[in-house]
Amino acid sequence: MITAVMPTYGRKDVVFERGEGNYLYAVDGRRYLDFTSGIAVNALGHCHPYLVKALTEQGSKLWHTSNLFRVGNGEKLAKRLVENSFADTMFFCNSGAEAIEGGIKLIRKYQYMNGQPKRYKIICFQAAFHGRLLNALAATGNEKYLEGFGPPAPGYLHAPLNNTNVVRDMVDDETAGILVEPIQGEGGIRATTPQFLKDLRAICDEFGLLLFYDEIHTGFGRTGKLWGYDWSGVKPDVAAIAKGMGGGFPIGAFMATEKAAVGMVPGTHGSTYGGNPLATGVANAVLDILLAPGFIDDVREKGEYLKGKLEELCRRHPTVFVEQRGMGFLQGLQCAASIPVGDMVNKLQSLGLLVPPAGENVVRVFPALIADKAALDEGIAILSQAAESFEAASKAAE
Ligand SMILES: *Cc1c(COP(=O)(O)O)cnc(C)c1O
Repeated sequence: MITAVMPTYGRKDVVFERGEGNYLYAVDGRRYLDFTSGIAVNALGHCHPYLVKALTEQGSKLWHTSNLFRVGNGEKLAKRLVENSFADTMFFCNSGAEAIEGGIKLIRKYQYMNGQPKRYKIICFQAAFHGRLLNALAATGNEKYLEGFGPPAPGYLHAPLNNTNVVRDMVDDETAGILVEPIQGEGGIRATTPQFLKDLRAICDEFGLLLFYDEIHTGFGRTGKLWGYDWSGVKPDVAAIAKGMGGGFPIGAFMATEKAAVGMVPGTHGSTYGGNPLATGVANAVLDILLAPGFIDDVREKGEYLKGKLEELCRRHPTVFVEQRGMGFLQGLQCAASIPVGDMVNKLQSLGLLVPPAGENVVRVFPALIADKAALDEGIAILSQAAESFEAASKAAE
């Protein structure tokens, strides 16, 4: 019999009843160190007192009014994000995939307004992840996710990452923009090179395309800078953000330069919930902490420490962990081909550490941005314990 919750996920058989900082507590009382962070969502850990206060205060004042009216919290949030990014304007929505689809609409409308109504295609990248709505899914391009859902939405091409020539060759008179994650998350923590982003910027400028960053995974300090693109300094025309934005409260946005948003006039896009007082109130509270002097610098510094420790794990356990990837608190370890990442994730869970898997046999290591060195060391110790256990198992099998 089908479960009451539609069975679209392969869920772990554990139910949590409480979270506090870096830890989750299951209904059976067991405590877990959480390096999943709700897949890069719980930026400030679980039930951060400052967020709980913002949520409950706003919750007793005003939740939702619809976008028929001005929203003070949303205007404040947009202004702060504009001041701290490439963007001049933004549209609030409720999830990552919605942000991607909004950005695609904006790009097509920009081309239309500039006398290029035939330009609708978006160049994307192999192993990308942009979400599960029908266009976001076509932009993702993963055959497995597309199967059975009819013809993929038209106009999404996929180039290999970090190969400028292939991208340049794909551009034709129907191309509208290029969509790229500064660091691919789901794909296995695969980073673009700064030079590649520079090349994409140049291609966009040469052919009149818009450069669209998917910062859903990389934004809000996850990489040790506020935005993933801050590492290269190459600015986009459009970006999608979500995940860490509400610290666990669902909210996303697409943001753009004034020039790129030329067509987004009243009536062109909408969302009933998008940017409501409760969601934007919580997101403002998240931003209060992220933008506090030194907070993200501290994440970057702790990220360097974590990177060193993960590299050391690879050196000490080369038959288990073959490569460290990523930066800040968006890191991962590629497991040896003999160890399926699912086995590693299960082993770590049994030892009390929660991590998400990713493509290319990578376990992601995503502490909350508030994790201190003691929490990082605790996680490293469990990763090391897991490595030893896989080593012992392969010895026993010899
Ligand atoms: C998670 C994610 C998405 C999709 O976000 P949803 O909120 O699940 O729709 C899109 N792009 C990237 C890079 C992501 O990590």
